[in-house]
Amino acid sequence: MSDLRQTIVDSLNSYSGNDSDLLETIQDLVEKEGEKVYPTLLNVLTHLEFDAHDAKVNWQRILAHRDLLQTKLDRQVKLITAVCDYFCEVSQTLTTPTMIELEVFEETRKHSHSDGLTGLFNRRFFDEALEGEINRVQRYDGSFSIIFFDLDHFKNLNDTYGHQAGDLTLKRVAEILILEKRTEDLACRYGGEELVLILPETQKINALVIAERIRQKVEDLDLVFDGKSFNVTISGGVASFPTDAKNTKSLLHASDVALYQAKESGRNRIFLHSTNKRHYIRIDFAKDVQIKKVDQESEQITVQGKNFSSSGLLLESPVLIEIGAQVKIELSDPSHDKPITIKAQVARVEKFDAHYDIGVSFLEINDTAGSEIAQTLAKNLGIPTSQINQKV
Ligand code: GH3
Ligand code: MG
Ligand code: MG
Repeated sequence: MSDLRQTIVDSLNSYSGNDSDLLETIQDLVEKEGEKVYPTLLNVLTHLEFDAHDAKVNWQRILAHRDLLQTKLDRQVKLITAVCDYFCEVSQTLTTPTMIELEVFEETRKHSHSDGLTGLFNRRFFDEALEGEINRVQRYDGSFSIIFFDLDHFKNLNDTYGHQAGDLTLKRVAEILILEKRTEDLACRYGGEELVLILPETQKINALVIAERIRQKVEDLDLVFDGKSFNVTISGGVASFPTDAKNTKSLLHASDVALYQAKESGRNRIFLHSTNKRHYIRIDFAKDVQIKKVDQESEQITVQGKNFSSSGLLLESPVLIEIGAQVKIELSDPSHDKPITIKAQVARVEKFDAHYDIGVSFLEINDTAGSEIAQTLAKNLGIPTSQINQKV
């Protein structure tokens, strides 16, 4: 538990109904810790999630509401009573709240792995699972990816359709995550409207495919609350271990940076982490890449894949393929029988002792096999797709 949450829980636990003591403690905390005290306080009291500004506004309204109740009832009204009355009767954010002693609730919460609203794993579980996955992968020299999702303009949605409509949206989006993820993937609610998937043994490109599928399903989701229809979109950032980061903190940071780029570039999109400024995908090629010049005589050559960027692919070849040559490249697609076929042109050649670095620029990507990887690659790299059927 964060120190701040614990301090608030402790203050509330020792609160003997003397509101002025409690208010003084809260004021001291705000002076020390800043306005993030308000959302934590309201979350402890009600389980609702607010950003700092909304939480502060609500808190001020609760205090005003308590004064009003006292005047109307002509007796002392405890803050706790005012909080409950405010959320049920004034803001109507809560409809059927349950009463439980704070201590009992916090104890249950401590041992819980799931998030009450969405049923996804909670942040506590996520932190442990991520640490565990890194340890496991380090032992076996493997890799995995995470996708960090954040709902777009969710504050607007809450403001326009109400907090309950927002809650419903979160639940429905969480259902999409659960449906679309594989059994071994872990879906977690990281915070308010931030959801994360941990994808064991998954290369970045496969994570991108899953993220894209989820993004599309969320975009297609028709939501209705209180007779009003609306839609929502989601943005995501993908990062892989150990390619992008060597520990939990930097992996989360990497996915967060990618998410930020997705938001910056217009939302409703998935970005892959990259240290490079260009849109650049670093892919761990699971298998060799096959390359063949587009003429009848050439032999197929087995090369090593090195990197993808939006403009092309870098390959390590044992033999020279001259600049300008048109080539057909076959990448194995683990999720499909047929390989992905890319038409490209050699744009750059660099000679090393034992090999050539061959840079090819993409011309077309073949999606006749209906491969999701091919489609996702084409979309993210901006390559036109085609139905390349001719034998090259
Ligand atoms: P952006 O596209 O940049 O992510 O914009 P945004 O409005 O989604 O981002 P911001 O961080 O400004 O707002 C997040 C909002 O999510 C504010 C908060 O009230 C709302 N929120 C967080 N948790 C919950 C929840 O459990 N239920 C509801 N209904 N809203 C929530
Ligand atoms: Mg957010
Ligand atoms: Mg958001």
